[in-house]
Amino acid sequence: RKLVGKLSTGCIEFNEMMGGGIDTQAITELYGEFGSGKTQVAHQLAVNVQLPPEQGGLDGSVIIIDTENTFRPERIKQMVDGLSEKYGVEYDHEEFLKNIRVARAFNSNHQILLVDSALELANELKNSEKPVRLLIVDSLTAHFRAEYIGRGTLADRQQKLNKHLHGLQRFGDLNNASVIVTNQVMSKPDAFFGDPTKPIGGHIVGHTATFRLYLRKSKGDKRIVRLVDSPNLPDGEAIISVTTPGLRD
Ligand code: ADP
Ligand code: MG
Repeated sequence: RKLVGKLSTGCIEFNEMMGGGIDTQAITELYGEFGSGKTQVAHQLAVNVQLPPEQGGLDGSVIIIDTENTFRPERIKQMVDGLSEKYGVEYDHEEFLKNIRVARAFNSNHQILLVDSALELANELKNSEKPVRLLIVDSLTAHFRAEYIGRGTLADRQQKLNKHLHGLQRFGDLNNASVIVTNQVMSKPDAFFGDPTKPIGGHIVGHTATFRLYLRKSKGDKRIVRLVDSPNLPDGEAIISVTTPGLRD
C-alpha cells in the first residue's frame, strides 16, 4: 500500500478541513443542489492534479467521466490562466487540456464500463510523465436516477451503484489516485426519491464514499463546503469563492 497523497483544492480553509487536501486512494463525494459548484470544484481539481507536489498537485493526469455534458475546455483555460496569475508562471492551457481525458457516458451501463476503460488507460500511462492520479465522475447518479424510476427498482439501482463505487475505489487504490464523484440533491421534494435533503443513492453512496462534502450557495460567488463525514477528520466547514480564474479563498 502506497502512502496516501493529498491533492490541493487551491483554497487554504478547504485544504485544512481535508487534512491538507483531497486524499488519494479514496472516494470523495461532492453533493449539493444544482449550481452549488460541484462541477466547478471538479474542473479545478482536474487542473490542480497536474501541478507538481510543491504546488499542491500530484504531477498527474486526469480522466473525467462526464455524464451530463458539463465539461468545458474553456473553463479549464480560464483556470489555468488563473494559476499563471496566482503563481506568476506562464502555464500553457493546451498542455493542461492534453492531460484531461474526457469520456461521455450515455447511460448507467456505459458509465460503469468506462471505469474499466479508465483502468486500462491508467495502466498504459502508469510509467509515463503524467500517470493518472485523478478520476472524476460528474455526475455519479444522474443516469441512475433517470433510469431507475419507482420503488420497485430501487434495490436494483442501489446494487448497481454499489458495484460501480467498488470499481471506483479499486481505481483509486490501484493508481494511488483521488476519485471525485458528484451527486445532486433536489431542492424540491421528489415524488420518487422522498426526502429532499438526502442525496440520491443515499445510504450506499454514503457508506462507500470515504469523504462526503456538502456544497451550498452563500452570498455572491461564495460557497460553503461542509465535511459531513470522514474516517479520520472532524466535521467542519470551509468557505470558498467560485471565481472566473478558479476556486479562491
Ligand atoms: P453544479 O453543482 O450544478 O455542478 P456548477 O459547478 O456548474 O454547479 O456551478 C455553476 C456556478 O459556477 C455558476 O452559477 C456560477 O456561479 C459559477 N461559474 C461557472 N462558470 C463560471 C465562470 N466562468 N466564472 C465565474 N463563475 C462561474
Ligand atoms: Mg454539475
